[in-house]
Amino acid sequence: MTLIPGDGIGPELAEATRRVLDASGVDFEWEVVEAGEAVMAKHGTPLPDSVLASIQRNRVAIKGPITTPIGEGFRSVNVSLRQALGLYANLRPARSIQGLKTRYDDVDLVIVRENTEDLYAGIEHRVGRDAAESIKIITRDASERIARFAFEYAVANGRRKVTAVHKANIMKLSDGLFLEACRTVAADYEGRIEFEDRIVDNMCMQLVQKPDLYDVLVLPNLYGDIVSDLAAGLVGGLGVAPGANIGTEAAVFEAVHGSAPKYAGQNKANPTALILSGVLMLRHLGLPDAATRVEDALRAVIAEGKATTYDLGGPAGTSDFADAIVERLGRTAPAAAPA
Ligand code: NAD
Repeated sequence: MTLIPGDGIGPELAEATRRVLDASGVDFEWEVVEAGEAVMAKHGTPLPDSVLASIQRNRVAIKGPITTPIGEGFRSVNVSLRQALGLYANLRPARSIQGLKTRYDDVDLVIVRENTEDLYAGIEHRVGRDAAESIKIITRDASERIARFAFEYAVANGRRKVTAVHKANIMKLSDGLFLEACRTVAADYEGRIEFEDRIVDNMCMQLVQKPDLYDVLVLPNLYGDIVSDLAAGLVGGLGVAPGANIGTEAAVFEAVHGSAPKYAGQNKANPTALILSGVLMLRHLGLPDAATRVEDALRAVIAEGKATTYDLGGPAGTSDFADAIVERLGRTAPAAAPA
């Protein structure tokens, strides 16, 4: 199993997550590899080939957040990883957690974000001194592939509906093609999974007002990025929002949040999002019992509220939070199973 600690708060969260996953009863063999800002200084690239090789070999990785310089400097390691490994689907569940004070207590959304194209294809140029263009790429193949992923996820996880989110009223060609591709795929699931579409601005308002109307959402890259943060806000914020980047050959599990440099090295940040990403990883590995045990232990510690981090209103540091989860898992540990 590849473990990339990342930048900023990443190493502390990765350590907490590793300890919790090790306490799940699964016998992990961790291969720790470094990527990000510090590696850039040492190797001249933030994403050495050895990191890609490790993920390709192990096929599964868990990763802490990595800093991306704004406006200049190296290109996002996250975007490069997704493109190099063909991690076309970004899965971001947002489910309410008992004990967290939020606007609603029964949110259960799954955001499926296309991960390889749209404005994140990285095709940008300056036009003279005072203008710049970023090109939005949408293809039928990638759109149908992500729509199929969303429908297959819905079928496999007993969900009832997929909503395609777009701005096809304005971007008639690019978002129009995305919507057309979603409709084509939806036809194959007629009678099994409901399908509808929403314009992205209306979708944002509706999610804030009545999130219970929605189930699985499928979106192009940029809208998926933004709407998944909105969904994270509905269930307690970035500290509790997990994610997975999934392709046919590999999968990389990571929190939605970034490296929060101002909290780095303070044993303060919340490890929940990365631990829940680990839960997604256990499910992906076909270890649903271990996944449920970790998630139940985490939820119980949050519901109790005594050992949670500052952002959840608790007094604990990152490592104390992890200790509390490990302690709870220890009470019901089964025999070790290989990862
Ligand atoms: P951020 O998510 O790092 O932090 C925003 C704020 O959210 C923090 O200041 C903090 O208040 C809170 N927060 C985030 N994670 C938390 C946690 N685990 N526990 C408690 N509070 C938490 O977003 P940003 O400041 O926009 O980005 C910082 C850096 O991270 C940038 O370089 C950005 O490019 C990068 N980034 C990386 C990833 C990734 O690696 N997948 C994702 C997003 C941003």
